[in-house]
This record gives sequence, C-alpha cells and structure tokens, in this order.
Amino acid sequence: MTHRILVVEDEADLADLVAFNLRQSGHQVQIAGLGSTALAEIRRQKPDLMLLDVMLPDISGFEVCRRLRRESETLRLPIIMLTAKGEEVDRIVGFEVGADDYVVKPFSPRELVLRVDAMLRRIGEWKQEPGTQTIHIASMTVDVPAHRVQVEEQDIALTALEFRLLLDLVKRRGRVQSRDALLERVWGYAPGIETRTVDTHVKRLREKLGAASNYIETVRGVGYRVRETVESL
Ligand code: CA
Repeated sequence: MTHRILVVEDEADLADLVAFNLRQSGHQVQIAGLGSTALAEIRRQKPDLMLLDVMLPDISGFEVCRRLRRESETLRLPIIMLTAKGEEVDRIVGFEVGADDYVVKPFSPRELVLRVDAMLRRIGEWKQEPGTQTIHIASMTVDVPAHRVQVEEQDIALTALEFRLLLDLVKRRGRVQSRDALLERVWGYAPGIETRTVDTHVKRLREKLGAASNYIETVRGVGYRVRETVESL
C-alpha cells in the first residue's frame, strides 16, 4: 500500500538515498531540507509518516516535533527521528517531545525502510481493529472507537502510539506486562531490542495522565501494570 512520507533531512545525498529506497518500497516521498519547510509541507501534504532529522539548519527536529504535537491535526502523525550515533540524549529528548521511534545514523536504508513499513503496518491494523468498548477505570475513561482518553472528564491529548500503549495496558489491567511484550505488541519489535523505549514512553504517558498517572504501576524488574481497581482516589 502506498503511503505519503515526508523526509526531513538537510543532507541532500542522504535524503535522496532514503527517498530512493522508500520509493522502491512503493511509497510517495517528499523531501524537506529545513524545519520550517517541513512544518509548511505537513500542512499542505498531510503525510502518513515523517522521518525527522534532529540537526537541521534552522529549527531543530526536536522543535519541529514539539510544534506538531501541540496541534490536534498532527498530534497522531507517526514520527521517526533520525539521531546521531552515541547521542543518548537525542533519543530521550526525542521521545519527550513526542517522537514515536528513532533510527540511529548511520543506518542502512533497508533497515530504515523496514522500520517505516512496520510502523505503517501497525497503524493500519489499529485503524481496522474493531473497537466498540469504552473502558472506565476510576476517573479515567478510554473510549476505544474514538481513540479518546479522558481523566476527570478532561480530554488527554495522546499520540497514536501513546494511546496504543495505554490501551494495551488497560485491556490487560491487573496483569503485569513485560517491557519486551509491550515493545512487541505496541512497537512491533523483536524482544530485547530497546526496552528503555518503553520506560520513556510510560513516563511521558504518566505526565499526560496527570491525576490518573498512578493508575500505571511500575513492577520492579518486570514491567508495568494498570491497576484493575483504583481505590481511595
Ligand atoms: Ca542534519
């Protein structure tokens, strides 16, 4: 299936290489070399996924991501950040500003295409999955068909991936889910790749849930669990 992908990368050779490989895989690709161009192009093209380099000549990829996550139209856009090797901080900041995934440079174009296709496939599956229920846990309501979460009747703005992570935990409430299991079901990764990705996302999810943040428990050495019942709140 063809998807529209926006590649935001100022190194022209790399951008062309990535675009070539994505087109080979059947996608429509546009390239933006500046953060500001990317922001404008997104409004115009409405891509299905964005690859976003951190180091851009004008505004950083982090800032681009942060701005997109502030707006409801782009809150759920899948964003994969391209980060420099060894820059652990880039990965963490990337997740904090709302990126869904990251690929470390230098990467093989094939690996990148696989990662992109995996994410698009998962998002496609999520859209088709029949969701009919609304789940209530104390002051939190998870409206599955509408992909909407409310805490104390206030809407919580979640990215597609954050919603999925929460839903995964909520559906299995009362049972501990390992990081590997979450990585596999939510991100589509093989176990053992990058379990800290889960931790960073759970942290951000808790921040967004505010008064309901403690509904997600950390089970030391194992993983995470959403409490089945929440008393005394
Ligand atoms: Ca760059």
